[in-house]
Amino acid sequence: MLINPKLLMDCVSTPKGVVVEAVKEDEKKDITFKLSLDEKKILGSQGDPLKWGARLIKFLKANSIEEASLVLNGLSAEKVALGAKLASYKFAKYLTSNEAKEVKLHFVGLELEDEVNKAQALSEAVYLARDLGNEPAISVPPLTFAKTVSEKMHGLPVEVQVLEEEELRKEGFGGIIAVGKGSVNPPALLIMKYNGGSGKPVVLVGKGVVFDAGGLNLKVGGGIRGMYMDKSGASDVVGTIFAAAKLKIKKNVIAIAPLVENIPSGNAVRPGDVIKMYSGKTVEVANTDAEGRLILADAIAYGKTYDPEEIVDLATLTGAQVVALGTKVAAVMGNDEHLVSSLIEAGKRTEEPLWQLPLFELYDELVKGDRSDLKNISDTNEAGSIIGGAFLKPFAEGAPWAHIDLAGPAMLNSDWEWMTKGATGFGVRLLIDHLSSQ
Ligand SMILES: [Zn+2]
Repeated sequence: MLINPKLLMDCVSTPKGVVVEAVKEDEKKDITFKLSLDEKKILGSQGDPLKWGARLIKFLKANSIEEASLVLNGLSAEKVALGAKLASYKFAKYLTSNEAKEVKLHFVGLELEDEVNKAQALSEAVYLARDLGNEPAISVPPLTFAKTVSEKMHGLPVEVQVLEEEELRKEGFGGIIAVGKGSVNPPALLIMKYNGGSGKPVVLVGKGVVFDAGGLNLKVGGGIRGMYMDKSGASDVVGTIFAAAKLKIKKNVIAIAPLVENIPSGNAVRPGDVIKMYSGKTVEVANTDAEGRLILADAIAYGKTYDPEEIVDLATLTGAQVVALGTKVAAVMGNDEHLVSSLIEAGKRTEEPLWQLPLFELYDELVKGDRSDLKNISDTNEAGSIIGGAFLKPFAEGAPWAHIDLAGPAMLNSDWEWMTKGATGFGVRLLIDHLSSQ
């Protein structure tokens, strides 16, 4: 079982515990929270109630206040509640003692119930994504990851299907098989379906490398330690479909997560090997550490068999993304400007910012193979993030597609506002906003 620390939130007409009131003194000034202790504290500026919620909960904890009622005076209860809940997350499953106290938060105003409930559902989904992302590789090899997700979807209108190694081999998922064959833990393809509306489905694809040692191109240095989080894309699409079902989003959504462990062994794929992908294209595995795009390419090509309205993939794909944009902003690129812009707008609304990188045709040359149709890296070190997208592009051809490289924001080394150290679940709220606004 995955553990979700509880933060109680409800709506009341009569305040309980410490009363905290949002006060806007005049149009120009920041809004402050006024505590009944007669203390004022600036917990955020106007317009960022998500930060408010996060700062408030930290403030209450630091002052050992266990119960508080919030009088919001028109601020978004959904965002304040979300910020509070997201900042309260802690991955405590493997702690033998956890003294973290829960804070009971009440929102004064029974009319806020729907907003607070929405925040609860969204934060539950982000917690699920974070829990999965934070799991060590030893605990969630591909099939166990899939089984855990199945259990989590119990009681929700989400159909879960798992394609195992033999079937993947039979169906020609050459990319997934090649990357997964170095590990004693066989690969799997996790498919989740939620039917909330009519029309073509939106297909979400999430990279699920449960551990990325780099394969025979073994990673060197300390960077390998955190590579259990290379399944964050998969964790995020799981969280997204969970939220879509909880919130009864009126869309058909299919989330696909190729799951593998990329690890060297006598059976591992070699640099220079040529493999045949699910789409029929051949690829030279020029570098075994560029494995994410191989499994994504198969999953994207498979996603097209559902005749999707659009495909969005999420992946901790390249270190170059972190170099270019840092840990708070993800890269987005794709073959459909309307889709890319819509995702960027959703990112603005949810404070999960995306920045577009170009996928000009001139980059295609760099992933063109010599002994194969394509190769999985270019021969130079330039434009690393874009090269990832350029490699995926031909596999998405024919469907509107966007690729989100969130290698930076998927995991943090320290707490930041509503994001907590470790897996962040970045992308879940953005995708839900995107699905809701269509
Ligand atoms: Zn890798």
